[in-house]
Amino acid sequence: MSFLGLIGGIGLVGSVHNDIEKVLIAEEVIEKRLDAIAERIYGDFKDEPTLQVVAILKGALVFMADLLRRVPLKLEIECLNVASYHGGTESSGRVDFLDRTMPDVKGRSILLLDDILDTGRTLSVVSAKLQDLGAREVRTCVLLTKDKKRIEEVEADYSAFEIGDEFVVGYGLDFDGKYRNLPYVGVLRKEVIES
Ligand code: 5GP
Ligand code: MG
Repeated sequence: MSFLGLIGGIGLVGSVHNDIEKVLIAEEVIEKRLDAIAERIYGDFKDEPTLQVVAILKGALVFMADLLRRVPLKLEIECLNVASYHGGTESSGRVDFLDRTMPDVKGRSILLLDDILDTGRTLSVVSAKLQDLGAREVRTCVLLTKDKKRIEEVEADYSAFEIGDEFVVGYGLDFDGKYRNLPYVGVLRKEVIES
């Protein structure tokens, strides 16, 4: 386990762990599950000449790094900067593309990665965009799926964990830009969100 692991950082002055109410999905549990998802992705794409991965920044950063190092395919990585939260704990209802140029996905088989499937807007807007740009096929992969009614009817092709309808941080997911470096998925203490 890393220095920032579960026991290592608790109680240390200035540690991010001190702001966490509970750990929802521990580091070791995530790692095991990534092995299984990676094996499925490998099996599903092994006959493609190359796989184009498109990761949605910044939330998918940690998930992408850990997942793709387990997938022994000839893959290429592109990232898209997309914003939907703007600092709070509720989706703003808008999906903004922040990049000036889009990856060239024409005729490619795409694996689209995001941190979490919540209302479904991000995955459906970004998938539609990639299809518009000429992608041959878009499959979606998320670390987390929230168990709730979606605004857009979309489910991920690969999802590592299903969680309840609560705001989580860690393993790439932020609150106000912070907590992405937590090696687990957790819930923030109420005082932190309110302050
Ligand atoms: P959707 O478009 O499906 O509503 O939401 C997707 C995006 O909202 C995710 O990429 C993520 O950035 C953000 N999001 C949704 N739920 C949560 C959450 O519980 N915690 C955090 N930190 N971000 C979330
Ligand atoms: Mg996000």
